[in-house]
Amino acid sequence: MPEKKATVMIVDDQPTNIHALASLLKVDYRILTATSGERALVMARGESPPDLILLDIVMPGMDGYDTCRRLKDDEATRSIPVIFVTALDDVEDEEKGLNLGAADYISKPFSPAIVRARVRNQVTLKLKTDMLEKISLQDGLTEIPNRRKFDQKLAEEWGRARRDGQPLSLLMIDIDQFKPYNDHYGHGAGDECLKRVAQAMAQTLSRTSDLLARYGGEEFVALLPGTDETGCRHLAESLLEAVRSLQLPHGLSDVAPHVTVSIGGATHSARTPKTNPETLKKSADDALYLAKQAGRNRYHHESGYASPITD
Ligand SMILES: [Mg+2]
Repeated sequence: MPEKKATVMIVDDQPTNIHALASLLKVDYRILTATSGERALVMARGESPPDLILLDIVMPGMDGYDTCRRLKDDEATRSIPVIFVTALDDVEDEEKGLNLGAADYISKPFSPAIVRARVRNQVTLKLKTDMLEKISLQDGLTEIPNRRKFDQKLAEEWGRARRDGQPLSLLMIDIDQFKPYNDHYGHGAGDECLKRVAQAMAQTLSRTSDLLARYGGEEFVALLPGTDETGCRHLAESLLEAVRSLQLPHGLSDVAPHVTVSIGGATHSARTPKTNPETLKKSADDALYLAKQAGRNRYHHESGYASPITD
């Protein structure tokens, strides 16, 4: 079993049925219960969604088939495996459940050993899938989110910003003169530099809504939801300072005796007509170019704001 208990949600309109399954599974899993399909949907979309749902078919109101259909239609709950638990033992019912995307089927009266085995199989599979998903969205070297994760998050936050009328800021960040650093100190030291810079910046962006990702090579990107130009400027200055404070020696830099970054920022607000996430990225990239042109180790915003030089 994994160190942290996986969570199984049992959905059944009969509390005695819930009790029977819960008593079988509560040693190995954290148990959530719901006595209706409606309630199950709310809980599955909540803060701590289950890793598996055991779903009764015959329930008043929203039945198990309907509940399953809605779980599978919603991006947020689609990946949670569903096992139907039912007294219906007709082959057609089983087929219907599986066609709706259910992972498995348990008929009542059930054998405790078989319930445990089927639950264990699905939970193991789910945890593996989650782990692979996490790995596929993470940069292997710096252990911060990768470009794929960033692009997903940008699409989500762009939609949210448009709905809520909230500003959305984006920073493009480059380590200054990284190629000479790599050539001079070697790739091992270069990797270490990338990790240290990534960690220092990740610690600086402490709000859970902010996302720092490695965009490729020595390029990073930060997405700052709900952040206007002023907030964006403060965060960018903090990032510049966090990297300077590492005091990683850089003998070949003509910017400073230590490793520095250049940052370009752009802000989408309800007032600025920006057509899509790509234009926001392009604006931040253009601002980054200006920060480099002006001598690096500084921040430039698309609006024309440029940071004062501090070292
Ligand atoms: Mg029932």
